[in-house]
Amino acid sequence: MHYERFAPSPTGKLHLGHAFSSLLVYNSTKKNNGKFLLRIEDLDFQRCRREFEESIFEDLNWLGIKWDKKPIRQSQRFNLYTDAIKTLWKKGVAYKCECTRKDISKAFQNFDENQSLSPDIYPGTCRPKSINHDNFSVRLDIRKAIELIDSKDLFFFNKSEINTPFEKINVSPETLIKDFGDVVIARKDIKTSYHIAVVVDDSAQKISQVTRGYDLFKSTFFHVLLQKLLNFKTPKYMHHKILYDDDGKKLSKRIGSTSLETFRNSGAKKEDLVKLLNLNQNVWS
Ligand code: GLU
Repeated sequence: MHYERFAPSPTGKLHLGHAFSSLLVYNSTKKNNGKFLLRIEDLDFQRCRREFEESIFEDLNWLGIKWDKKPIRQSQRFNLYTDAIKTLWKKGVAYKCECTRKDISKAFQNFDENQSLSPDIYPGTCRPKSINHDNFSVRLDIRKAIELIDSKDLFFFNKSEINTPFEKINVSPETLIKDFGDVVIARKDIKTSYHIAVVVDDSAQKISQVTRGYDLFKSTFFHVLLQKLLNFKTPKYMHHKILYDDDGKKLSKRIGSTSLETFRNSGAKKEDLVKLLNLNQNVWS
């Protein structure tokens, strides 16, 4: 069975970019005779709110999108994420980090150009430390992690539109070291991270194809590494184009881009939206 998912975070009202993304997921699912799953990514308890979750359901209903199983909520799945992090500890590829944001930006200022890392990559300050208090995040020791995996297995299949063929993207160990470094896999406050939650849930929900915005294309490189370390299957990926507003800025909840609710309340119909988003070529074909 072909499964796809739409995975919004209830940190604000959905905007037109989400409408575009959710319709692409829905139509790709239909094209593949698959099932559409909805996952609420509400890990960040400081920013997520129930009222925004309600409006996600309303917006998707208005778009005519029906989900095939009961939606899952990440805030109820922390035990699964903890298990995955424990697996990484057992493999010897995790370490505790007590750095504050200030410590990290100081480390960036002292950046040594002769190092092979990109300038905004954590330099591994806490790697050799032994930390005996509770206020820590957990980082993946990227070099050790890579050593456990055959680099020939680090790849994924990707496309950018429903009707284009997949192409193979290799994930080079050098890119992982240089552009990601020792990524935080469990934040101090929530004890997990987006990266862990997304690979655990995509695997648990047996997602065959992840359809999401191109802004997450680079994150997929890291997700592939986590999938290999955790013995998960790598799904196929479709990273679609990102919509920009009239000022050339990416549509986002933060900059208050037109919410779908405002659009709905103006009396517009779904067909108007499909036309506006120029979705026809991507839809039902
Ligand atoms: N929750 C993420 C967002 O709202 C999407 C994550 C994903 O599709 O992997 O941007």
